[in-house]
Amino acid sequence: MIKNEMYSSDEQKTYNLKIVWRNVFLMCFLHISALYGVWITLMTAKWQTIYAMYFFGIVSAMGVLAGAHRLWCHRSYKAKWPLRLILAIFETMALQNDIYEWCRDHRVHHKYSETDADPHNSNRGFFFAHMGWLLCRKHPEVIAKGSTIDMSDVWDDPIVRYQRKFYIPLVIIIWAAIPSYIPFLLWNESVWNSFFTCVTLRYTFVLHNAWLVNSAAHLYGSRPYNQYIQPRENRAVQYLAHGEGYHNYHHTFPWDYSASELGWKDNFNSATLFIDFFSLIGWAYDRKKVPQNVVNQRQERTGEKNVHRMSPLMDYSYGFVITLVPIWLAFLGRLIVTPLILYAFYS
Ligand SMILES: [Zn+2]
Ligand SMILES: [Zn+2]
Repeated sequence: MIKNEMYSSDEQKTYNLKIVWRNVFLMCFLHISALYGVWITLMTAKWQTIYAMYFFGIVSAMGVLAGAHRLWCHRSYKAKWPLRLILAIFETMALQNDIYEWCRDHRVHHKYSETDADPHNSNRGFFFAHMGWLLCRKHPEVIAKGSTIDMSDVWDDPIVRYQRKFYIPLVIIIWAAIPSYIPFLLWNESVWNSFFTCVTLRYTFVLHNAWLVNSAAHLYGSRPYNQYIQPRENRAVQYLAHGEGYHNYHHTFPWDYSASELGWKDNFNSATLFIDFFSLIGWAYDRKKVPQNVVNQRQERTGEKNVHRMSPLMDYSYGFVITLVPIWLAFLGRLIVTPLILYAFYS
């Protein structure tokens, strides 16, 4: 039984992995329902519904990346209440725990990376760092160290407190009902089709992209800023997770609002573009950026040498191809796979 207190070193030595079967069952159910969403995408969904699925995926990701991560957890910029409200709505649509809990887990991850106290410790392998950590009891050190993290600044925000207080009804409305009913109300899609595409398939896809930051971006890639830590610059993750794959930089300078050395003009980083857009209208401000000479000195001192940097044009080309993966996969599927299925059934 995991207790919310410090464990002695003897207790830590006897720690045994305990699978939470309820979570395993829920995760299996989610993935089966996402596969059914793929079937609907190929066979019966309207094109507007597929575009809506993509749209809900992007905005829910922004709630986590620009909201829970860069704003509330790292305080890398400030936001006026209308933007904080929008980000909290988007973050609820992502269903990756409420903002308070998300920030606590992430602060523990940064402070105790690659130790037993790291909730998704990548030393325990790709699968554990990716999603296995959600399928078993937390290591006692995660709870012990998590309880020592100062979260008062996050709790000070009334939007965070209200979201946590009403999290379950908010999730039912924002995560499930709104994406299910908007396609029904606007272009007469069936609620059944909308639910399995705009909710379960969209949710599963965004979850895996976010999990790749903890797994792939901690195991594969270059370390141009600090070669003595595990997090890496992972190109695929920087596109799939909208600018969160510059992970060696992010763990070296976590207070940088771009979570990367460069802004969105010089490399693919849609979450930075999102924040910069809101700074234009004054809703985002005090964006923190690490001075270039500090970055250069750090690279010189601790970074891997001769790391290749892609030109912005190539970066954006790859970025668009990979970020738009759900749209062109749906297009290719409808063009090739759907006729084959129809032929197999009706010939
Ligand atoms: Zn990390
Ligand atoms: Zn972070």
